[in-house]
Amino acid sequence: MSTTARLTDVHNLIGGREAVAASGSFEKLQPADGTLLCNVSRSGAAEVEAAVAAARAAQPGWATVTAVERGRLLRELALALQDAREEAAELVAAETGKSLQLALGEADAAVEMGFFVAGEGRRLYGRTTTSSMPNRTVLTVRQPVGVAGLIVSFNTPLPNYAWKVFPAVLCGNAVVLKPSEHTPASAALFGRLCNEILPPGVVNVVQGLGAEAGRPLVESPEVDLVSFTGSAATGRWINEVAGRRLAKVCLELGGKNALVVCDDADLDRAVEWSLASAFSNAGQRCAAASRIVVFDAVYEEFRGRFVEAAQGYETGPVISEESLQRILGALEGANVLAGGERLDLPGWWLGPTVVEAVPADAELSFTELFGPVTILYRVRDLEEALALVNDSPYGLTSAIHTASLHRAMHFADAVQAGVVVVNGGTHGSEPHMGFGGVKQSGTGWREAGVEALDVYSEWKYVNLIAEPEQA
Ligand code: NAD
Repeated sequence: MSTTARLTDVHNLIGGREAVAASGSFEKLQPADGTLLCNVSRSGAAEVEAAVAAARAAQPGWATVTAVERGRLLRELALALQDAREEAAELVAAETGKSLQLALGEADAAVEMGFFVAGEGRRLYGRTTTSSMPNRTVLTVRQPVGVAGLIVSFNTPLPNYAWKVFPAVLCGNAVVLKPSEHTPASAALFGRLCNEILPPGVVNVVQGLGAEAGRPLVESPEVDLVSFTGSAATGRWINEVAGRRLAKVCLELGGKNALVVCDDADLDRAVEWSLASAFSNAGQRCAAASRIVVFDAVYEEFRGRFVEAAQGYETGPVISEESLQRILGALEGANVLAGGERLDLPGWWLGPTVVEAVPADAELSFTELFGPVTILYRVRDLEEALALVNDSPYGLTSAIHTASLHRAMHFADAVQAGVVVVNGGTHGSEPHMGFGGVKQSGTGWREAGVEALDVYSEWKYVNLIAEPEQA
């Protein structure tokens, strides 16, 4: 692979310059075969402090650039990413182990997010409203929050950067992006493109481990907003620490998403969507269907077809040895119908895994594994299905397969989730659609869509009182 062959060391981007971390480096290995991809700057508090200072210095100037011009520059950035899509996808495929085809699709999704947000530069609408006082006009304007710390997961790196960086920068903030330690190469490329187009310091990238590089970013009193995509455990800690100084905090967390198959479902479609929902990207999707809830009347038939199809489904490795061991540990003692064992390959491979007969109150039913594992549940009817689906600490996405409009509408109304899909997968995000969940899947914000602008801006109410001149 030409790109990865050239890749050796990956460093930070601070104030428009490549910067090597003083405290050394760590090795990034490729999930597909365990070989070295690159050495990465192992940043700590000093590098974070420098990056936050660079963002702080750049932000006021950036905020004075018109929103239309900020949008124009972001369009340039999206176009640059489009030009670099193959290089970017090669890096993502190497650092995550996913297929090049999947990585190309993600590069395109990140570009589309850029185009969508860039257009918002001409639509940063406020409102005018009535007042109880005569001669008073009230209008609302969006203001930047300031310096934003953006911390993301590894699973879909380019969309993860795009979902946060584009709207944050459009709204006039300067940012420090802390990518996952598992995806340093794509983050370095994204930073390089930002640096070619945006003023220095508007986007800074700090590479490193969560506890060493992420933690000081969350703790910094100079960071006004922390926007995080990752696990509920890390999110809870971030909320406590950043909440103590009353910083704005946006958390997009995990899921234990359910797909319900009713007795009137088209079983071919239900099997197809269940496979893609459970196993695409090796199940490392916040929206993965890790619970498949099937009506008793079609359970045996669905199980037979699904298990057979799962055995032939091709998926990639999981992100690390640690992740593989965690998943295998969680499966100990489970009733495994397919997969469940490490594949005899270098790297971190686990076949598509199907489990059944897990009690609803067992830990496996509640814990997000973030791997290619799904559990089959058998229920009598829709009410039992809904009770099971909602009996979860999470509430990110959901799906139902049924021919009945009534059942679909009832499910959509009663399910505790941020996204509902009828007769499809537990997917559903597009750049113009707000995405996020309820309960422990987040803190109520929605990313993507115009909703993302609410994360990265504050509303200011401007009151204009113009008494008429006395005659
Ligand atoms: P993670 O919480 O381990 O790490 C996420 C990021 O946080 C990484 O960059 C990591 O380095 C950093 N981090 C870790 N500890 C930190 C600390 N103490 N302080 C600051 N930063 C720290 O999660 P992960 O394994 O990378 O990602 C998987 C999780 O992400 C899953 O739970 C998945 O559902 C979730 N996710 C959610 C969405 C969504 O939109 N809701 C999207 C993608 C992934």
